[in-house]
Amino acid sequence: EFIPENCTACGDCYTVCPDTAIPGLVNEVGQVLDTVVKRMKKNGKSTEQLPRAVRKMESTLRKNFVDAAESESVSDLFEAAIQATIKAAPEGSDERQQLTDEFADFREELGSFQFSLTRPYFTTPEKKQAGSGGLFSITIDPYTCKGCMECVEVCSDDALRPIKQTRESVADLRKNWDFWLDLPNTPEKYIRVDDLEKGIGALETILLNKDAYLPFASGDGSCLGCSEKTVVHLFVATVESLIQPRVKAHVAKLDDLIARLKEHIRLELAGAIDPGDVAEMAAVLSDAGDGELTLAKIADSVEKTHEAALVDRDWLKAVTDLVARLQDLRWRYEKGTTGNGRSTMGFLNATGCTSVWGSTFPFNPYPFPWANHLFQDPASMAMGVFEGHMAKMADGFKAVRMAEALLEGKYDADEQEERYRYFDWQDFTDEEYHLCPPVVAVGGDGAMYDIGFQNLSRALMSGKPIKVLVVDTQVYSNTGGQACTSGFFGQISDMAQYGNAIKGKEEVRKEMGLIAIAHRTTYFLQSTIAHANHMIEGFVEGLMSRRPALFNLYSSCQPEHGIGDDMSHHQAKLAVESRAYPLFRYDPDRGPTVGECLDLDGNPNPNLDWPVAKVDYVDDRGRAQTMELSTTFVDFAVTESRFRKHFRKIPRDSWNDNMVQVGEYLALDEDDREGKVPFVWALDAKQKLSRLLVAQPMIDSAEERRAFWIMLRDLGGAEEEAADANEVQIESRVRQEVVQKLASGLMGLVSGSQALDMGALLEAVPSTPAAGQKPQLAAVETAAPAVEGDYMAPWIDTEECTACDECIDINPQIFAYNDDKKAVIKNPDGGPYRDLVKSAEKCTAEVIHPGLPRDRSAKDIDKWIKRGEKFN
Ligand code: SF4
Ligand code: SF4
Ligand code: SF4
Repeated sequence: EFIPENCTACGDCYTVCPDTAIPGLVNEVGQVLDTVVKRMKKNGKSTEQLPRAVRKMESTLRKNFVDAAESESVSDLFEAAIQATIKAAPEGSDERQQLTDEFADFREELGSFQFSLTRPYFTTPEKKQAGSGGLFSITIDPYTCKGCMECVEVCSDDALRPIKQTRESVADLRKNWDFWLDLPNTPEKYIRVDDLEKGIGALETILLNKDAYLPFASGDGSCLGCSEKTVVHLFVATVESLIQPRVKAHVAKLDDLIARLKEHIRLELAGAIDPGDVAEMAAVLSDAGDGELTLAKIADSVEKTHEAALVDRDWLKAVTDLVARLQDLRWRYEKGTTGNGRSTMGFLNATGCTSVWGSTFPFNPYPFPWANHLFQDPASMAMGVFEGHMAKMADGFKAVRMAEALLEGKYDADEQEERYRYFDWQDFTDEEYHLCPPVVAVGGDGAMYDIGFQNLSRALMSGKPIKVLVVDTQVYSNTGGQACTSGFFGQISDMAQYGNAIKGKEEVRKEMGLIAIAHRTTYFLQSTIAHANHMIEGFVEGLMSRRPALFNLYSSCQPEHGIGDDMSHHQAKLAVESRAYPLFRYDPDRGPTVGECLDLDGNPNPNLDWPVAKVDYVDDRGRAQTMELSTTFVDFAVTESRFRKHFRKIPRDSWNDNMVQVGEYLALDEDDREGKVPFVWALDAKQKLSRLLVAQPMIDSAEERRAFWIMLRDLGGAEEEAADANEVQIESRVRQEVVQKLASGLMGLVSGSQALDMGALLEAVPSTPAAGQKPQLAAVETAAPAVEGDYMAPWIDTEECTACDECIDINPQIFAYNDDKKAVIKNPDGGPYRDLVKSAEKCTAEVIHPGLPRDRSAKDIDKWIKRGEKFN
């Protein structure tokens, strides 16, 4: 159930849904009214008064919306406007009666479809320009929704609630879905992306475009909440959003070329006839006698007069052939054999979960060519398909280039033939290259890390710009959960069982990012669905690159990881916050050093080994308490059943002074660990603390993850170290205080034993200050910027914040919430200037002002200042 009064249009639900079952949409008020009227007409209802009445009603409605608070019910405001419109007709008149009847049908047609007044799509646009605000809606597609409840889990505004499925509820959803299908697409002005090719803006809002949201169609047999599908959906939507406008522009270019070529031919033909030659024209008229005068007859007469062919037949054949080729090309782009035009991409799918849910009978979710081959083959197949397809693309570009040469008067058939004999994708201009549909190899980690690793490496080394999408579940999901080289140390799976001889996986995780870097040919992205902007930005960079690109995406596998159907987003976030799965990008085109090419943006507390998180719990006297702890790999592992055997609950009466919280234990050296026992805090269903004993493989695994993070950080350089130094000290102090407090006081308070509730285990929310406490770092709630030379401090219109988390997700060192859960600048120097600009671009309330940076030495600083200008 959608509660529109609570919705802030954060977009998390439509971004995370694996089954393309909950699209967001923005419509102008007039579009909504017109849709209802159109549907009434379609359904044979009388609409004699309505077309004029809804126009009048539109202005009343707009006024009501502007005067209303965002939390008011749009349905009530609709009703008020309907009443007012009916009342405006003369009392007792036929018109009033007719309006009353027609509006009754209007209400029925609109049914229970809900709209929301939101900051980003109504209030802010209205402030900028009266009449420009739109209505936001969230709708469920009952034909593809599997009921995983992931959307409910990510909605932190209580705008989605689960309801019991009944015949009536399903019928209602169907009716609303039908209405949604008739609503027009989101107008482009509401897509908050300034430049997709440069990755500027709130990139996930591309999903508000039906043409981007819908091409990947769901309704298959995948598991509930499978995040492989969210990954693939975001990828498909990104490619569609990039390619569709390019194809449109190219078709327009072809139209123009065809028209100009035809005109050119006409002029050449007509140019052979000189209408100023009186003698020649007289001869033509005499030849024709009283008969009809056609262009053919004129040409014939002129030709006789000149006694020679006036038009070069070879030329004419060449140019008319060219027109035919361009027309054929245009047809292929617009219609083609499928009627849907040129495909936006092609998928070569390794056998595995993706191929199984990707081919659930009778549907395939992709509206583009898709082929499935053996486990190991997609990268090799992609290379072959790429070469073949690029030859076809080259033919088309050759025709376009020849037409352009001809129109510029530079056409020479022999010279052109010679020039384009070996024309291939390496000769394409950037514009041509970006028009080519990406050829994408898709597979799981089993296909890419293990069985098809050699093929993948070959494809990366070839330099062919194929794109590889790896849905990394860290296990062979489809074949029953065998260990994969992508698995974590200590992870329990088939062939890495837990028993006396071995205790889960005994090898460290293979890091595909490091392997990609070693190839020195490849753009690499590692990301998760909980970082959708990061992921889409990486997709765009990789797709824009004329190199191979490898996208390695964290994907939870509900049955193999042992997590809830609604936990994909939560676990992906925790995987990043615990250094289990760091975010990173590597772009060889950024510079000659690894430090310049590697980008660790998006990882929390980058200069700490482990980020610091807040934990809320209830103490033994029933009082709400908060503590801050570092989030280690162990804190992630304890929340998933695949590591469960490494943890054992410690009865309260066994708690003792030798037990050390795992973050502290990991900070001790070998000697100091002597005699100590590591434990991890857990919460029971009543938010009470319990301790779980941590087995040695989890300590080893955490150390391995920390070592990998240190290595990455080292490779990435120390650009932001200064900014974080202050925070390192503060956080270390906080940790010491917390541990001291726990050691001295807490143990005495808690007693008894509670059943372990895995669903309520440690929650990692490093961005939020403790309830009832001031943030640890002084918050700068500046109303006006502080200017110091060229420096201008950033500021937030805090009161307007909708608590959408975007800024805090980008950099929790800069931003934090105050006690009213409104964002403030906690530390203006807590991260690079680009994080301030990115936050301003993403902020759903458009209330962040990045100011101007103090340090102008950072890479691309001028570019970021320019991007930030419009927000100051
Ligand atoms: S319940 Fe799951 S499948 Fe249904 S709309 Fe929500 S996220 Fe999508
Ligand atoms: S507030 Fe909830 S319902 Fe609204 S867009 Fe965000 S997640 Fe979806
Ligand atoms: S200030 Fe931050 S939390 Fe508030 S609306 Fe903007 S991005 Fe969202």
